[in-house]
Amino acid sequence: MAKEERYDIVIIGAGHNGTTTAAYLAKCGLSVCVLEERPECGGAQETTEPLAGVRIQPHAIANYGGSAPGWEQLELWKYGFRMDWNPNVSVELDPNQAFMTSDGLVPLTQQDIEGWCKITGQLGEPPFMKELMRATFWCPPHPPEVELNEDNIPFMQVYKQFQPSVWTRELLEMTLFDLMDEYLVTEPFKVMQAYIALSSGAHGHMEGVAIPALCSVATVMPPAVAKPVAARGNMHGYFHALFRCATAHGAVFRSCCPVEEIIVDDGRAIGVRLRDDATWGAKKIWANKAVISACHIKPTFLDMIGPQNLDAGFLQRIRDLSLKGGSLYMSHFLSREQLRYKPQYRMKEPGSYGAFHGGFFPMDSRENYFENVRIVLGEQKNLDIPPERAMWGMVASELYDPTNPQCTRPGQYVNGPLWMMVPTPQYNVDGADAMDRDKKHWEEYMRAALASVVENLDDDNLIRMFCDSPYEQEFRNSGMLGGSWYGLRCDRDQWWNERPLPELARYRVPEIEGLYLAHQSGAHPGGLCLMAVGYNLMHILIEDGIAEPGDWWYESPWYIPQEGKISAKLS
Ligand SMILES: Cc1cc2nc3c(=O)[nH]c(=O)nc-3n(C[C@H](O)[C@H](O)[C@H](O)COP(=O)(O)OP(=O)(O)OC[C@H]3O[C@@H](n4cnc5c(N)ncnc54)[C@H](O)[C@@H]3O)c2cc1C
Repeated sequence: MAKEERYDIVIIGAGHNGTTTAAYLAKCGLSVCVLEERPECGGAQETTEPLAGVRIQPHAIANYGGSAPGWEQLELWKYGFRMDWNPNVSVELDPNQAFMTSDGLVPLTQQDIEGWCKITGQLGEPPFMKELMRATFWCPPHPPEVELNEDNIPFMQVYKQFQPSVWTRELLEMTLFDLMDEYLVTEPFKVMQAYIALSSGAHGHMEGVAIPALCSVATVMPPAVAKPVAARGNMHGYFHALFRCATAHGAVFRSCCPVEEIIVDDGRAIGVRLRDDATWGAKKIWANKAVISACHIKPTFLDMIGPQNLDAGFLQRIRDLSLKGGSLYMSHFLSREQLRYKPQYRMKEPGSYGAFHGGFFPMDSRENYFENVRIVLGEQKNLDIPPERAMWGMVASELYDPTNPQCTRPGQYVNGPLWMMVPTPQYNVDGADAMDRDKKHWEEYMRAALASVVENLDDDNLIRMFCDSPYEQEFRNSGMLGGSWYGLRCDRDQWWNERPLPELARYRVPEIEGLYLAHQSGAHPGGLCLMAVGYNLMHILIEDGIAEPGDWWYESPWYIPQEGKISAKLS
Protein backbone atom coordinates (compact mmCIF):
# COMPACT_ATOMS: atom_id res chain seq x y z
CA MET A 1 0.00 0.00 0.00
CA ALA A 2 1.35 3.43 -0.91
CA LYS A 3 2.41 5.43 2.10
CA GLU A 4 3.00 9.14 2.46
CA GLU A 5 5.36 10.96 4.73
CA ARG A 6 5.74 14.57 5.66
CA TYR A 7 8.69 16.54 7.09
CA ASP A 8 9.55 20.20 7.46
CA ILE A 9 12.61 19.74 5.25
CA VAL A 10 13.46 17.12 2.62
CA ILE A 11 17.11 16.99 1.54
CA ILE A 12 18.24 15.14 -1.59
CA GLY A 13 21.71 13.59 -1.21
CA ALA A 14 23.53 12.56 1.96
CA GLY A 15 26.97 13.75 0.94
CA HIS A 16 28.83 16.04 3.28
CA ASN A 17 26.88 19.15 2.25
CA GLY A 18 23.43 17.56 2.53
CA THR A 19 24.40 16.13 5.90
CA THR A 20 25.84 19.42 7.21
CA THR A 21 22.64 21.17 6.21
CA ALA A 22 20.57 18.42 7.88
CA ALA A 23 22.59 18.79 11.09
CA TYR A 24 22.11 22.56 11.18
CA LEU A 25 18.38 22.38 10.47
CA ALA A 26 17.68 19.48 12.82
CA LYS A 27 19.52 21.43 15.51
CA CYS A 28 17.04 24.25 14.87
CA GLY A 29 14.27 21.82 15.85
CA LEU A 30 12.97 21.16 12.34
CA SER A 31 11.98 17.66 11.21
CA VAL A 32 14.41 16.66 8.46
CA CYS A 33 14.54 13.69 6.07
CA VAL A 34 17.65 13.06 3.95
CA LEU A 35 17.31 10.77 0.93
CA GLU A 36 20.41 9.09 -0.46
CA GLU A 37 20.68 7.12 -3.68
CA ARG A 38 23.63 4.95 -2.69
CA PRO A 39 23.64 2.24 -0.01
CA GLU A 40 26.03 4.35 2.07
CA CYS A 41 25.97 8.01 3.04
CA GLY A 42 28.99 10.30 2.77
CA GLY A 43 29.16 11.02 -0.96
CA ALA A 44 32.72 11.74 -1.98
CA GLN A 45 33.96 11.65 1.58
CA GLU A 46 34.43 7.95 1.66
CA THR A 47 37.03 5.45 2.71
CA THR A 48 36.99 2.11 0.95
CA GLU A 49 38.69 -1.17 1.81
CA PRO A 50 39.46 -2.95 -1.48
CA LEU A 51 41.42 -5.62 0.43
CA ALA A 52 40.86 -6.49 4.07
CA GLY A 53 43.07 -4.23 6.14
CA VAL A 54 43.82 -1.80 3.28
CA ARG A 55 42.04 1.53 3.57
CA ILE A 56 42.15 3.95 0.69
CA GLN A 57 40.61 7.35 0.00
CA PRO A 58 39.21 7.48 -3.53
CA HIS A 59 38.36 11.18 -3.24
CA ALA A 60 38.50 13.51 -0.25
CA ILE A 61 41.64 13.30 1.78
CA ALA A 62 42.59 16.70 3.19
CA ASN A 63 40.64 18.56 5.82
CA TYR A 64 39.55 21.84 4.22
CA GLY A 65 37.61 22.84 7.26
CA GLY A 66 40.12 24.28 9.68
CA SER A 67 38.28 27.50 10.36
CA ALA A 68 34.66 26.35 9.98
CA PRO A 69 32.19 27.77 12.51
CA GLY A 70 30.55 24.33 12.25
CA TRP A 71 33.11 22.77 14.59
CA GLU A 72 31.73 24.97 17.35
CA GLN A 73 28.12 25.32 16.26
CA LEU A 74 27.56 21.63 15.60
CA GLU A 75 29.90 20.56 18.44
CA LEU A 76 31.32 17.72 16.39
CA TRP A 77 33.65 16.60 19.18
CA LYS A 78 30.56 15.39 21.02
CA TYR A 79 29.88 13.06 18.11
CA GLY A 80 33.28 11.45 17.81
CA PHE A 81 35.33 13.87 15.76
CA ARG A 82 38.97 13.81 16.85
CA MET A 83 41.63 16.20 15.64
CA ASP A 84 43.88 18.80 17.22
CA TRP A 85 42.70 22.25 16.27
CA ASN A 86 43.47 25.66 17.58
CA PRO A 87 43.35 28.35 14.95
CA ASN A 88 44.54 30.99 17.37
CA VAL A 89 47.92 29.42 17.93
CA SER A 90 50.39 30.69 15.41
CA VAL A 91 52.61 27.89 14.12
CA GLU A 92 55.41 28.77 11.81
CA LEU A 93 56.20 26.57 8.83
CA ASP A 94 58.73 23.86 9.61
CA PRO A 95 62.13 25.39 8.81
CA ASN A 96 63.43 21.92 7.93
CA GLN A 97 61.03 21.69 5.05
CA ALA A 98 62.47 21.35 1.56
CA PHE A 99 60.91 21.02 -1.88
CA MET A 100 61.50 18.25 -4.38
CA THR A 101 62.80 19.40 -7.74
CA SER A 102 64.39 17.45 -10.59
CA ASP A 103 67.78 18.51 -9.18
CA GLY A 104 67.11 17.40 -5.61
CA LEU A 105 65.89 19.28 -2.56
CA VAL A 106 65.58 23.06 -2.34
CA PRO A 107 65.23 24.33 1.26
CA LEU A 108 62.63 26.71 2.63
CA THR A 109 64.11 30.02 3.78
CA GLN A 110 63.35 32.25 6.74
CA GLN A 111 62.13 34.93 4.32
CA ASP A 112 59.58 32.48 2.87
CA ILE A 113 58.33 31.59 6.33
CA GLU A 114 57.90 35.21 7.29
CA GLY A 115 56.23 36.12 3.99
CA TRP A 116 53.84 33.18 4.15
CA CYS A 117 52.93 33.84 7.77
CA LYS A 118 52.34 37.50 6.96
CA ILE A 119 49.93 37.01 4.06
CA THR A 120 48.05 34.20 5.78
CA GLY A 121 47.44 36.27 8.89
CA GLN A 122 49.70 34.44 11.29
CA LEU A 123 51.87 37.44 12.08
CA GLY A 124 49.17 40.02 12.68
CA GLU A 125 48.56 41.46 16.11
CA PRO A 126 46.49 39.60 16.97
CA PRO A 127 46.93 36.79 14.39
CA PHE A 128 43.91 36.81 12.07
CA MET A 129 44.17 33.62 10.07
CA LYS A 130 40.80 32.33 11.23
CA GLU A 131 39.11 35.64 10.33
CA LEU A 132 40.76 35.60 6.89
CA MET A 133 39.68 32.02 6.13
CA ARG A 134 36.15 32.62 7.38
CA ALA A 135 35.84 35.83 5.40
CA THR A 136 36.91 34.02 2.25
CA PHE A 137 34.82 30.87 2.50
CA TRP A 138 32.44 30.88 5.45
CA CYS A 139 30.29 33.84 4.47
CA PRO A 140 27.27 33.79 2.17
CA PRO A 141 27.64 35.70 -1.11
CA HIS A 142 26.36 39.26 -0.84
CA PRO A 143 22.85 39.95 -2.20
CA PRO A 144 22.82 40.41 -5.98
CA GLU A 145 22.00 44.12 -5.73
CA VAL A 146 25.24 44.79 -3.83
CA GLU A 147 28.06 45.67 -6.18
CA LEU A 148 31.33 44.12 -5.03
CA ASN A 149 34.23 46.42 -4.34
CA GLU A 150 37.32 46.68 -2.14
CA ASP A 151 35.22 48.03 0.72
CA ASN A 152 32.79 45.14 0.95
CA ILE A 153 34.60 42.02 -0.26
CA PRO A 154 35.09 40.26 3.07
CA PHE A 155 38.75 39.24 2.78
CA MET A 156 39.66 42.81 1.76
CA GLN A 157 38.03 44.09 4.93
CA VAL A 158 39.99 41.60 7.01
CA TYR A 159 43.33 42.78 5.64
CA LYS A 160 42.30 46.39 6.05
CA GLN A 161 41.37 45.81 9.67
CA PHE A 162 44.14 43.46 10.80
CA GLN A 163 47.10 44.04 8.49
CA PRO A 164 46.84 47.27 6.51
CA SER A 165 50.40 46.83 5.23
CA VAL A 166 49.23 43.92 3.06
CA TRP A 167 46.05 45.65 1.92
CA THR A 168 46.13 47.19 -1.52
CA ARG A 169 43.39 47.51 -4.08
CA GLU A 170 45.55 45.49 -6.47
CA LEU A 171 44.92 42.38 -4.36
CA LEU A 172 41.71 42.14 -6.40
CA GLU A 173 43.62 41.98 -9.67
CA MET A 174 46.58 39.80 -8.73
CA THR A 175 47.30 36.21 -9.62
CA LEU A 176 48.60 33.99 -6.84
CA PHE A 177 52.04 34.17 -8.47
CA ASP A 178 51.93 38.01 -8.36
CA LEU A 179 51.17 37.89 -4.65
CA MET A 180 53.80 35.29 -3.89
CA ASP A 181 56.43 37.17 -5.88
CA GLU A 182 55.95 40.07 -3.47
CA TYR A 183 56.26 38.09 -0.27
CA LEU A 184 58.12 34.83 -0.96
CA VAL A 185 61.51 34.12 -2.48
CA THR A 186 61.91 30.41 -3.22
CA GLU A 187 60.48 29.40 -6.59
CA PRO A 188 59.77 25.72 -5.68
CA PHE A 189 57.81 26.89 -2.62
CA LYS A 190 55.69 29.15 -4.82
CA VAL A 191 55.15 26.40 -7.37
CA MET A 192 54.06 24.02 -4.64
CA GLN A 193 51.50 26.50 -3.29
CA ALA A 194 50.18 27.10 -6.80
CA TYR A 195 49.85 23.36 -7.41
CA ILE A 196 48.03 22.81 -4.11
CA ALA A 197 45.63 25.62 -5.03
CA LEU A 198 45.16 24.18 -8.50
CA SER A 199 44.35 20.71 -7.27
CA SER A 200 42.04 22.31 -4.69
CA GLY A 201 40.03 23.75 -7.55
CA ALA A 202 41.38 27.31 -7.23
CA HIS A 203 43.23 28.36 -10.34
CA GLY A 204 45.70 30.75 -8.79
CA HIS A 205 47.27 31.63 -12.13
CA MET A 206 44.10 33.51 -13.11
CA GLU A 207 43.92 37.24 -12.39
CA GLY A 208 41.92 38.25 -9.33
CA VAL A 209 42.13 34.88 -7.64
CA ALA A 210 45.22 35.52 -5.51
CA ILE A 211 43.59 35.62 -2.08
CA PRO A 212 40.97 32.87 -2.50
CA ALA A 213 43.69 30.62 -3.99
CA LEU A 214 46.05 31.48 -1.12
CA CYS A 215 43.31 30.70 1.39
CA SER A 216 42.45 27.42 -0.30
CA VAL A 217 46.00 26.33 0.50
CA ALA A 218 46.19 27.87 3.95
CA THR A 219 42.93 26.41 5.19
CA VAL A 220 44.24 22.90 4.70
CA MET A 221 47.62 23.46 6.31
CA PRO A 222 48.85 23.95 9.87
CA PRO A 223 47.89 25.78 11.96
CA ALA A 224 44.37 25.82 10.46
CA VAL A 225 44.44 22.04 10.78
CA ALA A 226 46.97 19.98 12.71
CA LYS A 227 47.99 17.98 9.66
CA PRO A 228 46.19 17.81 6.33
CA VAL A 229 44.94 14.28 7.03
CA ALA A 230 45.17 14.16 10.77
CA ALA A 231 41.52 13.61 11.62
CA ARG A 232 40.89 10.19 13.11
CA GLY A 233 39.25 8.03 10.46
CA ASN A 234 40.17 10.65 7.87
CA MET A 235 37.42 12.45 5.97
CA HIS A 236 34.97 9.61 6.30
CA GLY A 237 35.61 9.67 10.06
CA TYR A 238 34.75 13.35 9.99
CA PHE A 239 31.62 12.52 8.00
CA HIS A 240 30.60 9.98 10.65
CA ALA A 241 30.69 12.72 13.29
CA LEU A 242 28.56 14.96 11.11
CA PHE A 243 26.10 12.14 10.46
CA ARG A 244 25.86 11.29 14.17
CA CYS A 245 25.28 14.95 14.95
CA ALA A 246 22.42 15.17 12.45
CA THR A 247 20.75 11.98 13.70
CA ALA A 248 21.25 12.96 17.35
CA HIS A 249 19.18 16.07 16.60
CA GLY A 250 16.50 13.90 15.01
CA ALA A 251 17.28 13.92 11.28
CA VAL A 252 16.15 10.79 9.45
CA PHE A 253 18.42 9.28 6.76
CA ARG A 254 17.21 6.84 4.09
CA SER A 255 19.77 5.15 1.86
CA CYS A 256 18.98 3.34 -1.42
CA CYS A 257 16.38 6.05 -1.98
CA PRO A 258 17.12 7.86 -5.25
CA VAL A 259 14.97 10.90 -5.88
CA GLU A 260 13.57 11.06 -9.38
CA GLU A 261 11.47 14.20 -9.22
CA ILE A 262 11.18 17.36 -7.19
CA ILE A 263 7.43 17.95 -6.98
CA VAL A 264 6.59 21.56 -7.82
CA ASP A 265 3.04 22.80 -7.46
CA ASP A 266 2.03 26.29 -8.45
CA GLY A 267 5.62 27.57 -8.29
CA ARG A 268 6.40 25.97 -4.94
CA ALA A 269 8.53 22.88 -4.14
CA ILE A 270 6.34 20.70 -1.97
CA GLY A 271 8.09 17.34 -1.91
CA VAL A 272 9.91 14.67 -3.88
CA ARG A 273 9.10 11.46 -5.70
CA LEU A 274 11.43 8.49 -5.28
CA ARG A 275 12.46 6.23 -8.12
CA ASP A 276 10.44 3.01 -8.38
CA ASP A 277 13.32 0.86 -7.18
CA ALA A 278 13.81 2.89 -3.98
CA THR A 279 13.82 0.63 -0.95
CA TRP A 280 11.42 2.80 1.02
CA GLY A 281 7.72 2.08 0.67
CA ALA A 282 6.54 5.66 0.47
CA LYS A 283 7.30 6.96 -2.99
CA LYS A 284 6.29 10.52 -2.29
CA ILE A 285 7.76 12.46 0.59
CA TRP A 286 6.30 15.85 1.33
CA ALA A 287 8.07 18.95 2.59
CA ASN A 288 6.20 21.53 4.66
CA LYS A 289 8.89 24.20 4.45
CA ALA A 290 11.63 23.40 1.94
CA VAL A 291 13.21 20.92 -0.44
CA ILE A 292 16.99 21.19 -0.60
CA SER A 293 18.97 19.60 -3.40
CA ALA A 294 22.37 18.53 -2.14
CA CYS A 295 23.29 16.69 -5.32
CA HIS A 296 24.85 17.94 -8.51
CA ILE A 297 23.32 21.03 -10.04
CA LYS A 298 22.99 19.60 -13.55
CA PRO A 299 20.76 16.58 -12.74
CA THR A 300 18.92 18.75 -10.20
CA PHE A 301 17.77 21.12 -12.91
CA LEU A 302 17.90 18.95 -16.02
CA ASP A 303 16.28 15.80 -14.60
CA MET A 304 14.58 16.38 -11.27
CA ILE A 305 12.81 19.73 -11.56
CA GLY A 306 11.40 19.21 -15.03
CA PRO A 307 11.38 21.72 -17.90
CA GLN A 308 7.73 22.60 -17.34
CA ASN A 309 8.77 24.45 -14.18
CA LEU A 310 11.71 26.35 -15.62
CA ASP A 311 12.46 28.93 -18.24
CA ALA A 312 14.03 27.37 -21.36
CA GLY A 313 16.78 30.00 -21.57
CA PHE A 314 17.70 29.47 -17.93
CA LEU A 315 17.86 25.69 -18.48
CA GLN A 316 20.21 26.19 -21.38
CA ARG A 317 22.53 28.20 -19.14
CA ILE A 318 22.55 25.30 -16.68
CA ARG A 319 23.48 22.96 -19.56
CA ASP A 320 26.27 25.38 -20.49
CA LEU A 321 27.82 25.47 -17.02
CA SER A 322 31.42 24.45 -17.41
CA LEU A 323 32.97 21.60 -15.45
CA LYS A 324 36.31 22.21 -17.10
CA GLY A 325 38.19 22.93 -13.91
CA GLY A 326 40.16 19.67 -14.10
CA SER A 327 39.82 16.36 -12.30
CA LEU A 328 42.14 14.22 -10.23
CA TYR A 329 43.54 10.76 -10.96
CA MET A 330 44.04 9.03 -7.61
CA SER A 331 46.58 6.23 -6.98
CA HIS A 332 47.45 4.19 -3.88
CA PHE A 333 50.47 1.89 -3.56
CA LEU A 334 50.53 -1.33 -1.48
CA SER A 335 54.07 -2.50 -0.83
CA ARG A 336 56.05 -5.10 1.13
CA GLU A 337 58.51 -2.65 2.60
CA GLN A 338 57.87 0.99 3.33
CA LEU A 339 58.65 3.30 0.42
CA ARG A 340 61.98 5.12 0.60
CA TYR A 341 63.12 8.34 -0.97
CA LYS A 342 66.10 8.29 -3.29
CA PRO A 343 69.13 9.70 -1.44
CA GLN A 344 68.82 13.13 -3.04
CA TYR A 345 65.28 13.50 -1.64
CA ARG A 346 65.99 12.48 1.95
CA MET A 347 65.73 15.46 4.21
CA LYS A 348 68.78 16.09 6.31
CA GLU A 349 67.04 16.62 9.61
CA PRO A 350 65.84 13.69 11.71
CA GLY A 351 62.25 13.48 12.93
CA SER A 352 59.12 13.02 10.93
CA TYR A 353 60.74 14.23 7.74
CA GLY A 354 63.27 11.40 7.80
CA ALA A 355 60.50 8.97 6.87
CA PHE A 356 58.57 8.80 3.63
CA HIS A 357 55.82 11.42 3.75
CA GLY A 358 54.96 11.88 0.08
CA GLY A 359 55.12 15.53 -0.95
CA PHE A 360 54.98 17.35 -4.27
CA PHE A 361 57.07 16.86 -7.40
CA PRO A 362 58.56 18.28 -9.62
CA MET A 363 58.47 21.74 -8.10
CA ASP A 364 61.24 23.10 -10.34
CA SER A 365 59.69 26.21 -11.81
CA ARG A 366 56.46 27.85 -12.88
CA GLU A 367 57.33 26.93 -16.49
CA ASN A 368 56.87 23.34 -15.46
CA TYR A 369 53.59 24.24 -13.72
CA PHE A 370 52.32 25.99 -16.84
CA GLU A 371 53.36 23.09 -19.05
CA ASN A 372 51.04 20.82 -17.01
CA VAL A 373 48.26 23.43 -16.95
CA ARG A 374 48.53 24.02 -20.70
CA ILE A 375 48.05 20.35 -21.53
CA VAL A 376 45.40 19.47 -18.96
CA LEU A 377 43.32 22.65 -18.81
CA GLY A 378 44.23 24.42 -22.03
CA GLU A 379 44.37 21.60 -24.56
CA GLN A 380 42.18 19.33 -22.40
CA LYS A 381 44.13 16.23 -23.29
CA ASN A 382 45.95 13.49 -21.44
CA LEU A 383 49.44 14.36 -20.29
CA ASP A 384 51.91 13.52 -23.02
CA ILE A 385 55.09 14.66 -21.30
CA PRO A 386 57.56 12.20 -19.74
CA PRO A 387 56.23 11.07 -16.32
CA GLU A 388 59.12 12.76 -14.52
CA ARG A 389 57.73 16.13 -15.67
CA ALA A 390 54.13 15.39 -14.67
CA MET A 391 53.18 17.21 -11.46
CA TRP A 392 51.70 15.34 -8.53
CA GLY A 393 51.04 15.58 -4.82
CA MET A 394 50.93 12.70 -2.39
CA VAL A 395 50.15 12.01 1.24
CA ALA A 396 51.91 9.03 2.75
CA SER A 397 50.75 6.74 5.54
CA GLU A 398 52.79 8.73 8.03
CA LEU A 399 50.36 11.63 7.70
CA TYR A 400 47.40 9.55 8.90
CA ASP A 401 46.42 9.23 12.53
CA PRO A 402 48.60 6.39 13.88
CA THR A 403 45.74 5.09 16.02
CA ASN A 404 43.71 4.52 12.88
CA PRO A 405 46.30 3.54 10.26
CA GLN A 406 45.75 3.07 6.54
CA CYS A 407 47.04 -0.50 6.58
CA THR A 408 46.58 -3.15 9.23
CA ARG A 409 47.99 -6.07 7.22
CA PRO A 410 51.13 -7.27 8.96
CA GLY A 411 54.28 -6.52 7.03
CA GLN A 412 52.55 -4.44 4.38
CA TYR A 413 52.26 -0.70 3.75
CA VAL A 414 49.77 1.48 1.90
CA ASN A 415 50.67 4.94 0.74
CA GLY A 416 48.42 7.39 -1.00
CA PRO A 417 46.68 8.85 -2.63
CA LEU A 418 49.06 10.24 -5.14
CA TRP A 419 46.91 12.69 -7.07
CA MET A 420 47.54 14.16 -10.46
CA MET A 421 45.56 16.81 -12.29
CA VAL A 422 44.04 15.40 -15.49
CA PRO A 423 41.33 16.65 -17.89
CA THR A 424 37.69 16.43 -16.85
CA PRO A 425 36.43 13.38 -18.80
CA GLN A 426 33.57 15.18 -20.58
CA TYR A 427 36.02 17.66 -22.09
CA ASN A 428 38.88 15.30 -22.92
CA VAL A 429 39.59 15.83 -26.62
CA ASP A 430 40.08 12.09 -26.98
CA GLY A 431 36.73 11.19 -25.46
CA ALA A 432 35.30 10.83 -21.97
CA ASP A 433 36.88 7.39 -21.46
CA ALA A 434 40.26 8.37 -22.90
CA MET A 435 42.11 7.50 -19.70
CA ASP A 436 40.05 4.42 -18.93
CA ARG A 437 40.68 2.80 -22.29
CA ASP A 438 44.31 2.52 -21.31
CA LYS A 439 44.21 2.21 -17.57
CA LYS A 440 47.33 -0.01 -17.49
CA HIS A 441 49.30 2.73 -19.21
CA TRP A 442 48.14 5.33 -16.65
CA GLU A 443 48.95 3.05 -13.73
CA GLU A 444 52.47 2.69 -15.08
CA TYR A 445 52.64 6.44 -15.71
CA MET A 446 51.72 7.22 -12.08
CA ARG A 447 54.18 4.64 -10.84
CA ALA A 448 56.96 6.07 -13.04
CA ALA A 449 56.08 9.58 -11.84
CA LEU A 450 56.48 8.50 -8.21
CA ALA A 451 59.62 6.51 -9.04
CA SER A 452 61.27 9.85 -9.87
CA VAL A 453 61.74 10.31 -6.12
CA VAL A 454 61.23 6.81 -4.63
CA GLU A 455 63.94 4.15 -4.95
CA ASN A 456 62.02 0.95 -4.18
CA LEU A 457 58.97 0.90 -6.44
CA ASP A 458 60.26 -2.20 -8.20
CA ASP A 459 58.12 -5.29 -8.91
CA ASP A 460 59.55 -7.16 -5.92
CA ASN A 461 58.32 -4.52 -3.53
CA LEU A 462 55.09 -3.32 -5.11
CA ILE A 463 52.21 -5.69 -4.37
CA ARG A 464 49.42 -3.73 -5.98
CA MET A 465 48.22 -0.34 -7.05
CA PHE A 466 44.68 0.95 -6.59
CA CYS A 467 43.80 3.68 -9.07
CA ASP A 468 40.61 5.55 -9.73
CA SER A 469 40.24 7.75 -12.76
CA PRO A 470 37.81 10.70 -12.79
CA TYR A 471 35.46 8.68 -14.98
CA GLU A 472 35.32 5.93 -12.38
CA GLN A 473 34.85 8.44 -9.58
CA GLU A 474 31.86 9.72 -11.48
CA PHE A 475 30.22 6.32 -11.56
CA ARG A 476 31.10 5.50 -7.99
CA ASN A 477 29.28 8.55 -6.89
CA SER A 478 26.42 9.75 -8.98
CA GLY A 479 26.58 13.16 -7.38
CA MET A 480 29.93 13.89 -8.94
CA LEU A 481 29.82 14.69 -12.60
CA GLY A 482 33.18 15.06 -14.21
CA GLY A 483 34.86 13.31 -11.31
CA SER A 484 35.50 16.87 -10.38
CA TRP A 485 35.07 19.36 -7.66
CA TYR A 486 34.68 23.04 -7.72
CA GLY A 487 36.58 24.87 -5.02
CA LEU A 488 36.51 28.14 -6.89
CA ARG A 489 35.57 29.19 -10.29
CA CYS A 490 38.44 30.46 -12.25
CA ASP A 491 37.67 33.74 -13.83
CA ARG A 492 36.39 37.11 -12.88
CA ASP A 493 32.87 36.79 -14.27
CA GLN A 494 32.37 33.67 -12.20
CA TRP A 495 33.40 35.07 -8.86
CA TRP A 496 31.96 34.31 -5.48
CA ASN A 497 28.65 36.20 -5.70
CA GLU A 498 28.10 35.01 -9.26
CA ARG A 499 28.41 31.31 -8.57
CA PRO A 500 27.30 29.08 -10.25
CA LEU A 501 24.95 31.56 -11.96
CA PRO A 502 24.23 35.00 -10.47
CA GLU A 503 20.57 34.19 -9.80
CA LEU A 504 21.52 31.02 -7.89
CA ALA A 505 24.36 32.50 -5.87
CA ARG A 506 22.31 32.81 -2.68
CA TYR A 507 21.18 29.16 -3.01
CA ARG A 508 17.60 30.05 -3.91
CA VAL A 509 16.00 28.91 -7.17
CA PRO A 510 14.29 31.63 -9.20
CA GLU A 511 10.58 31.16 -9.81
CA ILE A 512 10.39 28.19 -7.42
CA GLU A 513 9.65 28.98 -3.83
CA GLY A 514 10.87 26.64 -1.12
CA LEU A 515 13.64 25.10 -3.25
CA TYR A 516 17.29 25.56 -2.28
CA LEU A 517 20.70 24.29 -3.42
CA ALA A 518 23.37 22.82 -1.18
CA HIS A 519 25.73 20.81 -3.38
CA GLN A 520 29.38 21.65 -3.96
CA SER A 521 28.58 22.35 -7.63
CA GLY A 522 25.74 24.72 -6.83
CA ALA A 523 27.13 26.93 -4.13
CA HIS A 524 30.07 29.06 -3.20
CA PRO A 525 32.67 28.04 -2.16
CA GLY A 526 32.00 24.70 -3.65
CA GLY A 527 33.39 21.54 -2.27
CA LEU A 528 36.45 23.24 -1.01
CA CYS A 529 35.48 24.12 2.50
CA LEU A 530 33.90 21.84 5.01
CA MET A 531 30.55 22.89 6.42
CA ALA A 532 30.72 26.13 4.43
CA VAL A 533 27.71 25.47 2.24
CA GLY A 534 25.54 24.43 5.20
CA TYR A 535 26.66 27.41 7.29
CA ASN A 536 26.22 29.90 4.45
CA LEU A 537 22.84 28.48 3.48
CA MET A 538 21.67 28.87 7.08
CA HIS A 539 21.80 32.67 6.64
CA ILE A 540 19.43 32.39 3.69
CA LEU A 541 17.05 29.99 5.42
CA ILE A 542 16.88 32.34 8.39
CA GLU A 543 16.18 35.23 6.00
CA ASP A 544 13.28 33.24 4.51
CA GLY A 545 11.80 32.43 7.92
CA ILE A 546 12.50 28.70 7.59
CA ALA A 547 15.18 28.23 10.24
CA GLU A 548 15.17 29.78 13.71
CA PRO A 549 18.39 28.75 15.44
CA GLY A 550 19.04 28.97 19.15
CA ASP A 551 21.75 30.97 20.87
CA TRP A 552 24.43 28.57 19.55
CA TRP A 553 24.15 30.36 16.20
CA TYR A 554 26.33 33.23 15.09
CA GLU A 555 26.35 34.72 11.63
CA SER A 556 29.31 35.72 9.52
CA PRO A 557 30.50 39.21 10.54
CA TRP A 558 30.77 40.06 6.84
CA TYR A 559 27.28 38.92 5.89
CA ILE A 560 25.00 41.53 4.29
CA PRO A 561 21.28 40.86 4.83
CA GLN A 562 18.93 41.02 1.90
CA GLU A 563 16.48 43.88 1.96
CA GLY A 564 12.94 42.91 2.86
CA LYS A 565 14.01 39.65 4.49
CA ILE A 566 14.51 38.58 8.10
CA SER A 567 18.15 39.32 8.97
CA ALA A 568 20.27 36.36 10.06
CA LYS A 569 22.02 38.73 12.49
CA LEU A 570 20.38 37.24 15.52
CA SER A 571 23.24 37.32 17.98
C1 LIG B 1 39.34 13.16 -6.55
C2 LIG B 1 38.74 14.09 -5.54
C3 LIG B 1 39.51 14.51 -4.46
C4 LIG B 1 38.96 15.35 -3.49
N1 LIG B 1 39.73 15.72 -2.43
C5 LIG B 1 39.18 16.42 -1.43
C6 LIG B 1 39.91 16.70 -0.25
O1 LIG B 1 41.08 16.34 -0.16
N2 LIG B 1 39.28 17.36 0.76
C7 LIG B 1 37.98 17.76 0.66
O2 LIG B 1 37.45 18.35 1.61
N3 LIG B 1 37.28 17.55 -0.45
C8 LIG B 1 37.85 16.87 -1.49
N4 LIG B 1 37.11 16.59 -2.60
C9 LIG B 1 35.79 17.18 -2.71
C10 LIG B 1 34.81 16.56 -1.79
O3 LIG B 1 34.84 15.20 -1.94
C11 LIG B 1 33.48 17.16 -2.11
O4 LIG B 1 33.59 18.53 -1.97
C12 LIG B 1 32.38 16.76 -1.18
O5 LIG B 1 32.30 15.39 -1.09
C13 LIG B 1 31.12 17.38 -1.75
O6 LIG B 1 30.07 17.05 -0.97
P1 LIG B 1 28.60 17.22 -1.53
O7 LIG B 1 27.74 16.81 -0.43
O8 LIG B 1 28.42 18.55 -2.12
O9 LIG B 1 28.50 16.22 -2.77
P2 LIG B 1 28.70 14.66 -2.94
O10 LIG B 1 29.76 14.16 -2.07
O11 LIG B 1 28.81 14.48 -4.43
O12 LIG B 1 27.33 14.07 -2.42
C14 LIG B 1 26.14 14.06 -3.18
C15 LIG B 1 25.31 12.90 -2.71
O13 LIG B 1 24.06 12.91 -3.39
C16 LIG B 1 23.72 11.60 -3.76
N5 LIG B 1 22.78 11.67 -4.89
C17 LIG B 1 23.02 12.04 -6.15
N6 LIG B 1 21.89 12.00 -6.88
C18 LIG B 1 20.90 11.61 -6.04
C19 LIG B 1 19.49 11.40 -6.19
N7 LIG B 1 18.88 11.58 -7.36
N8 LIG B 1 18.78 10.99 -5.11
C20 LIG B 1 19.38 10.81 -3.90
N9 LIG B 1 20.71 10.98 -3.73
C21 LIG B 1 21.46 11.40 -4.77
C22 LIG B 1 25.05 10.97 -4.13
O14 LIG B 1 25.02 9.57 -4.11
C23 LIG B 1 25.95 11.55 -3.03
O15 LIG B 1 25.99 10.76 -1.88
C24 LIG B 1 37.63 15.78 -3.61
C25 LIG B 1 36.85 15.38 -4.70
C26 LIG B 1 37.41 14.55 -5.66
C27 LIG B 1 36.57 14.13 -6.82
